[in-house]
Amino acid sequence: MYWTQTFIPTLKETPSDAEIVSHQLLLRAGLVRKLTGGLYTFLPMGLRALRKIEQIIRQEMNRAGGIEVLMPALQPSEIWKQSGRYETAADVLYKIRDRARKEWVLGPTHEEVITTLAANELNSYRQFPRNFYQIQTKFRDEIRPRFGLMRAKEFIMKDAYSFDTSDEGAMASYRRMYDAYTRIFFRCGLKAFPVEADTGVIGGNHSHEFMVPAETGENEVVYCESGGYAANIEKATSRGPSPSTPTDGTGDSPEKFPTPGVVSIEALAAAPHSVPAHAQIKTLVYILDSKPALILMRGDDQLNSAKLLAKTGAIQARPATVDEIVATLGAHPGSLGGAHNVPHDVSVYADEVLRGARGMTTGANVDGFHLHNVEMDRDIRVSHWADFRMVRAGEQCVETGEALKIRRAIEVGHVFKLGTKYSEKLNSTFLAEDGSRQTTVMGCYGIGLTRTLQAVIEQCKDKDGICWPLSVAPHQVCLTPLNVAPESQPRQVAEKLLMELTAAGIDVILDDRDERPGVKFKDSELVGFPLRVNVGEKSLAKGEVELKPRTGPTQPVKIDDAAAQIIGFVRSGMAALA
Ligand code: ATP
Ligand code: MG
Repeated sequence: MYWTQTFIPTLKETPSDAEIVSHQLLLRAGLVRKLTGGLYTFLPMGLRALRKIEQIIRQEMNRAGGIEVLMPALQPSEIWKQSGRYETAADVLYKIRDRARKEWVLGPTHEEVITTLAANELNSYRQFPRNFYQIQTKFRDEIRPRFGLMRAKEFIMKDAYSFDTSDEGAMASYRRMYDAYTRIFFRCGLKAFPVEADTGVIGGNHSHEFMVPAETGENEVVYCESGGYAANIEKATSRGPSPSTPTDGTGDSPEKFPTPGVVSIEALAAAPHSVPAHAQIKTLVYILDSKPALILMRGDDQLNSAKLLAKTGAIQARPATVDEIVATLGAHPGSLGGAHNVPHDVSVYADEVLRGARGMTTGANVDGFHLHNVEMDRDIRVSHWADFRMVRAGEQCVETGEALKIRRAIEVGHVFKLGTKYSEKLNSTFLAEDGSRQTTVMGCYGIGLTRTLQAVIEQCKDKDGICWPLSVAPHQVCLTPLNVAPESQPRQVAEKLLMELTAAGIDVILDDRDERPGVKFKDSELVGFPLRVNVGEKSLAKGEVELKPRTGPTQPVKIDDAAAQIIGFVRSGMAALA
């Protein structure tokens, strides 16, 4: 491959609308171009890296027993109505109509399609287990497409779906995918680690996300240093906050006291009232699927909105407006509570850390008043208890007791055990060995290829550009003759190396641009080829060429040894990623 025969439009300036470094590098290195927010064209170097990631994924999926298929991106809305997701996933669905005004969906994922296939094709226990996968474009109407390929409206995903006849079988399928994912990210040169995850709108009861630690990641991961525990903050738990919640109260009933102008936890914690935040009950009013509900949290805790959805089963949740709050509780935010004047048809959800709490302070549902000496069990009609809180750094790990840490990360893959959620709704059943008809047990497994590509860049870069791992680099080696005239010695040596390396299966590009060495060096570093070979007159005069690994020092080698050295560099580097 010759540089002038492909298309590598590198940029000197950092594009002003790219906020994170990996996004800037995608553009600067000429890997992609933006069509509009959330939509990108892959240029040759970006496409080559993408294809390498795709190949690794395909190999590992096949090795794990996956069967490749390709499903339509355009899907009839009926199957989405049948699964219930026409409504529950409505916020990400691109819905379209054809000329006959019939509704269609552009697939954000393919549980509905594959389960329909399984319902038709897999009918006897003898046909199981099966794991179908595809590598395909997905569409999601993201509220905030951003960070380049990280959160796009259209992106490429590998999605796999397992079908088993028993729960144990489904667990084994899950485990196989989990192990395959571990291998896939390792082979891509990515440090990704699995964390326990919330199952969100897809549903199911067992799930891990594969996370790449990065400051720019949109997820927060709670973990303990010894490796005993790691979970998405949406799901994470701990042994609880410190100090613990008061459990010794005084008095026979709540005691109302005036708090004019005191409308926050902090204000009540300050003089003259001086009620510590952990001795307060915070009362949040939410609209859960159009019904108002109270969520009671300890004053110093934050509500975790993923847990709110998971624990209440609500499909949509939003904070109530001030008008809705006044209509529900008769008071304004700042004076709200769960003890007095709560209508009977309003559900009251309370966070577990409030269990058994006594001597608490909360709003009186009368503007300008609070109640002292509130006891959860005595004074508040709790309809449901659950863990609704956001874990904080420093709390004790449920498994090891160590202090938990929190860091940001990029989710590149996600494995779910789905159970029978989709097979029930879409009638995927089979005739069991004993003659009974049973429902298949499913799992689903996704990797964002395009997001993974950018995550590699986010993790493998320096001030000069991308530092591709050999396994996913657009080209492994960049031959750089410093004189490109056809008869010049640098060009001839470079051409000979190109032939030898290509014959050995090395993926090489020859920079045949008539540019100054400085320009060529800068560009090859920006694009990030793992090894550059400088072929210049000065070195040739000493019988040498220079090997410049992207992340190491320049080494002179004898011309006659060059091909073998380069092949050795690539093969040993690739072996380390196998
Ligand atoms: P997120 O929480 O980031 O929105 P998700 O949990 O909705 O992602 P899944 O349904 O689990 O995503 O999709 C599987 C994989 O697809 C993700 O792990 C991620 O790598 C990728 N992915 C999801 N949404 C996008 C997107 N908008 N742009 C690029 N890749 C995406
Ligand atoms: Mg996910």
